[in-house]
Amino acid sequence: MRPASGSRHESGCPWRRHRAQDELAERQRLEGELRRVVETDALTGLANRRSLIRVLAREFRHARRHDHELAVLIFDLDRFKAVNDTLGHATGDAVLRETARRALNDVHDEDTVGRIGGEEFVVVLPETDQPGARHAAERLRLAIEGRPMAINGIELSVTVSVGLATLHPLDEGHKVLLGRADEALYEAKKAGRNRVAIARPPADDG
Ligand code: GH3
Ligand code: MG
Ligand code: MG
Repeated sequence: MRPASGSRHESGCPWRRHRAQDELAERQRLEGELRRVVETDALTGLANRRSLIRVLAREFRHARRHDHELAVLIFDLDRFKAVNDTLGHATGDAVLRETARRALNDVHDEDTVGRIGGEEFVVVLPETDQPGARHAAERLRLAIEGRPMAINGIELSVTVSVGLATLHPLDEGHKVLLGRADEALYEAKKAGRNRVAIARPPADDG
């Protein structure tokens, strides 16, 4: 049987066009879902390490190009091993989830929070100078310490130590900036935990 219109090409059939559109929409949905899974930390729903580092690298380039400020915080739960050892890994996981929730609630929309290791988190704060970052770090610390976490009917007091670094002209790349924040975190732990430590500027070897 001849088609009603002799000029109509097969691919012009409306039902075929609809199927192609449906397939494209489904593929885009699956790609979006895949990207979300690849970039998200399954336990907390935060950005995972890989995606957080990508955000940091992008913000580093942007800050350099436009001569903007950039700050980064690393925070780590204090004496977290004791929580796992005394209350179990599942309770530890619940503490990690609640910590993530509080951190995410606490930061500004432009900031990115990620979980980069077992009980280590990073916040990237674009266009933030040292006083601003210090304020954010102190607020974050208090968001964790200020109220006990109610987990499975138990009230748990949790604290974090925070290392803070702001972009310096001598920082050669985002990894150097993150490394300085990590050194500051180590200083915060050494100084007694539940505190914010600020990274020293990089050493000028020139
Ligand atoms: P510090 O104050 O020096 O940070 O002491 P800490 O006990 O927190 O540090 P340490 O590095 O000794 O222990 C980290 C612990 O984090 C070890 C491990 O049991 C726990 N941990 C790491 N990843 C996970 C996780 O995904 N879930 C749970 N529940 N625990 C984890
Ligand atoms: Mg710890
Ligand atoms: Mg740790």
